[in-house]
Amino acid sequence: MSNIRLDDTIVAISTPVGEGGIGIVRMSGKDSLKIADKVFLSRNKSRPSRFKTYSVHYGHVVSNGHRTSRFVPVQGKHGIIDEVILTVMRAPKSYTKEDVVEINCHSGIVPLKKILDLVLANGARIAEPGEFTKRAFLNGRIDISQAESVLDIIRARTDLSLKAAVNNLEGFFSKRIQDIRSELMNIFAHLEAHVDFSEEDDVDSIKKRDIFNRLKDIKKTMEKLIRAAHKGKILRQGVKTVICGSPNVGKSSLMNAFLKEPRAIVTHIPGTTRDTIEEVINIKGIPVVLVDTAGISMTRHPAAKEGVKRSHLSIKEADLVLLVLDHGRKLNQRDFNMMRKVKDRELIVIINKKDLKRRIDINMARDMFPKKDIVYISAINLSGIDKLENAIKNIIFKGRVLTKDFIITSNERQLEALNRSLRDIKSAIDIYRDKMPMDCLGVYLRSSIEGLGEITGHTISEEALDKIFSEFCIGK
Ligand code: GDP
Repeated sequence: MSNIRLDDTIVAISTPVGEGGIGIVRMSGKDSLKIADKVFLSRNKSRPSRFKTYSVHYGHVVSNGHRTSRFVPVQGKHGIIDEVILTVMRAPKSYTKEDVVEINCHSGIVPLKKILDLVLANGARIAEPGEFTKRAFLNGRIDISQAESVLDIIRARTDLSLKAAVNNLEGFFSKRIQDIRSELMNIFAHLEAHVDFSEEDDVDSIKKRDIFNRLKDIKKTMEKLIRAAHKGKILRQGVKTVICGSPNVGKSSLMNAFLKEPRAIVTHIPGTTRDTIEEVINIKGIPVVLVDTAGISMTRHPAAKEGVKRSHLSIKEADLVLLVLDHGRKLNQRDFNMMRKVKDRELIVIINKKDLKRRIDINMARDMFPKKDIVYISAINLSGIDKLENAIKNIIFKGRVLTKDFIITSNERQLEALNRSLRDIKSAIDIYRDKMPMDCLGVYLRSSIEGLGEITGHTISEEALDKIFSEFCIGK
């Protein structure tokens, strides 16, 4: 998707292709209605180009509809392809801000493909991945971070992830970025127009202090936003978590206990290594990606070596480690080795099999992990699982309460740009603190403004745009 074009009409199948109740062929662009006139015959013979916006019409897609004056839907006679419902959404109040026509047909590969081909033959062009959303952005209906949240909504794994993505789509994140950006632009303009630092007098000195106070406020706001964005990243990508411990402590049982929770959404994601499987579970609204669960079961396999090697790798890559120890037996050398390995990681110590008589020397574990959470559970009886889930939630959000209305999604790209902009603001503040020459102030402000513009799409390269939209599916 290299050249930005908005003058043609695009079409795509917007629903998953396959057998289903309804399939949708969607068109957007200036010729949408004209093309619809050629392929659609309504029961009352009225043409789509006469339809009111946001109106829905029953009729047929026909291969020779525009030549037929009197319409009686007889299969074969008019080249009837399917019985459909057609929706018209006129510019600018549509998804793309262009004329949009959606044809709801029966979902099967043949009707969908035939309707698509017919629309193409009548002048539309096949849409590229994400092109409808790209047009919504290029036509100014949404900014780029809102466009990205469309993808987050599609891919949301938990209700909290969905809520965060919807907040973004509604402009929750963009609005804040936009506010900071405008404030910086005001400061920048003010600086250029009114302050002459080369011949500084008392008045300029006051102005200067005022500017830096405003910058400090901006810094605080940005830091707050970055903290929220971090949480957003977690909600979007999930927390990579590994369950580790000696053989037989109950790792697989714990895994099953998590999966037994009725609210757990479970998906299987094929991993990069051949037989690695990742399970995504929903813990208090947080998507928790249990990494290398195949490795867990393999530790008991005779060919345990490979499994163990992989588990070690998983521990290294995990955001969170769940170390399982056995309440019913004394700690052994293997436990100690494992405890040493994970000591400095983000960690929760789980003492499993609390239903058994205590044989573990709990003080040894406490000494080794003085600051870590220790949670007692019985994976078999499912007791203590709720407490464990709370501990997981707390460690992820560092005890901060997650208020529903201050959650946002953010991705690497946005977070990187936000961090970069913050660094510029900090450098700008340092100029004042360290009484350095003021000339660079404008440079830092400009750079920060640009960084924020990348988040909203005000200053974004075509290449970056292409990259964002290439992740979308066709038809979105
Ligand atoms: P892994 O090798 O660490 O994955 O351990 P498993 O989950 O396979 O469990 C090993 C053994 O411990 C099995 O026989 C389980 O039934 C048993 N086990 C697991 N959790 C508990 C528990 O909470 N209480 C009791 N009494 N036994 C458990």
